[in-house]
Amino acid sequence: MRRKIVAGNWKMNNDLAQTELLITNLIKQLPSTDAGVMIAPTFPNLYKAFEALRENKIEVIAQNMHFAESGAYTGEVSAAMLKSVGIKTVILGHSERRAYFGEDDAILAKKVDAALKNDMTAMFCFGEELDDRKAGNHFSVVENQLKNALFHLNAEAWKNIILAYEPVWAIGTGETATPEQAQEMHEFVRKTIVEKYGQNVADNVSILYGGSVKPDNAKEIFSKPDVDGGLIGGASLKAEDFVEIIKAI
Ligand code: 13P
Repeated sequence: MRRKIVAGNWKMNNDLAQTELLITNLIKQLPSTDAGVMIAPTFPNLYKAFEALRENKIEVIAQNMHFAESGAYTGEVSAAMLKSVGIKTVILGHSERRAYFGEDDAILAKKVDAALKNDMTAMFCFGEELDDRKAGNHFSVVENQLKNALFHLNAEAWKNIILAYEPVWAIGTGETATPEQAQEMHEFVRKTIVEKYGQNVADNVSILYGGSVKPDNAKEIFSKPDVDGGLIGGASLKAEDFVEIIKAI
């Protein structure tokens, strides 16, 4: 059966000292939970975070990586490099990567392949923009994002995929999708996966919701049957808030 997960995407926040402090506070306050708890610090702080959490159940994950194994890609980081510092899961396709760094579905398909080839788990983000939703195109946009970046995979590969639905209009805006909007999209995504791969694959993939999840709305969003947890931005930067959200799962 699929896992419940709460993951904190720290984005470009927290230097080394702040990373250590936040981790210390998280360790102190972490409630006992069956859910997977993950944090994604920036590249320079991944190893320190991994070491600090080695004995802990919080998994340290990366925010991005390149698709190539190695070579002349100035400024980039490979799957093998991440693995060499203990990282086994990587966020791919975040809307900020798509919007500011030109990552399209074709690039993301290659990144997913590179992650899986290196025995990593890919946390694949997707979601429509406000204009798509206003035009009523949100289902087709999401369907295409999934098909273009993931539907070349075989069923076995889906064991190492986590999905994160993040409607772009809800990210960092304080405007969250309603629990009903989240459930409706998650149900649609699961149905789309059933059609391609069958019920078993669809039932076993965790689909997280991301976009302005806060301590006061997490419980209601997580109560929906197809919402398996959250990918948390702003509220993952404060230990108290992140811990409250973990308690809501
Ligand atoms: P916020 O929780 O700050 O809206 O960010 C969501 C997000 O982008 C997580 O990846």
